[in-house]
Amino acid sequence: MPQLGLGVWQAGNGQDLDRAVKTALETGYRLFDTASFYQNEDGVGKAIAESGIDRSSVFITTKVWNDEQGYQETKTAIQRSMDALRTDYIDLYLIHWPVRDKYKDTWRAMEECYQKGWLRAIGLSNFLQHHIEDLLPHCSIKPMVNQLEHHPLLVQKDLQLFCQQNQIQFEAWRPLMGGSLLSELELLQELAQKYQKTSAQILLRWNIQNNIVTIPKSITPQRIKDNYNIWDFALEEADMLAIDALDQGRRLGPDPDTFV
Ligand code: NDP
Repeated sequence: MPQLGLGVWQAGNGQDLDRAVKTALETGYRLFDTASFYQNEDGVGKAIAESGIDRSSVFITTKVWNDEQGYQETKTAIQRSMDALRTDYIDLYLIHWPVRDKYKDTWRAMEECYQKGWLRAIGLSNFLQHHIEDLLPHCSIKPMVNQLEHHPLLVQKDLQLFCQQNQIQFEAWRPLMGGSLLSELELLQELAQKYQKTSAQILLRWNIQNNIVTIPKSITPQRIKDNYNIWDFALEEADMLAIDALDQGRRLGPDPDTFV
């Protein structure tokens, strides 16, 4: 899968979203991260279709929402998402949150849809180590990706390692800490100065060099372009470790153990 994509949570489902997806495609993005919960799968599908870029060169991730989980419900949700996205397959389908007592049935439905070719890859989101350990013995196909909150305030090195040991690709949501905290971390300002890049570009480069797939959200054309302009520099190892060391174990989003 591409290592850098565009997230579209809270991007709306109108002109802003349309312009964002098309700007991203023109810039070089090929990965788009949506969810049935975001209520904009149809807008993403429409923008991709209108862009003229071949469907086969675009990678679409979407997710099953909490109240769509369960065996039959998930199959219905997958069909609904494919219709909304104007596609007959989804590149990566994720369980959005680990809904207790449901995620094993949800996974079984996803495995079947994977076998049918409707889902090219299947994975998890917001699954902590104990959730994965609970699910793994019930899998005939192992999860391929786990999408988690990840930024300098919540690094989760142990979970990164656990995913790596189980060949599960770690993917970061909220990689820019929601944008507003970018100017508050002094180290990021220093590194931005040192590498002549923005704080956002420093963080996205830190993701890439840690082999973490990252999906910053923006509806601002210049930011969409800037966030993609991270391929012409490399952070030194000491700077990578210095960003890791900012970890506070601080969530900006919900805690998977209490949210569902
Ligand atoms: P991000 O960390 O990507 O931050 C997005 C915010 O940062 C927006 O307000 C955006 O503003 C701003 N921003 C973007 N680029 C820059 C920049 N270069 N400089 C300054 N500000 C910037 O947070 P998200 O929560 O949106 O996470 C990214 C994606 O992850 C989501 O869109 C979604 O696809 C996914 N996600 C998945 C979750 C899950 O449970 N699996 C949970 C949450 C998110 P503007 O748009 O106005 O430019």
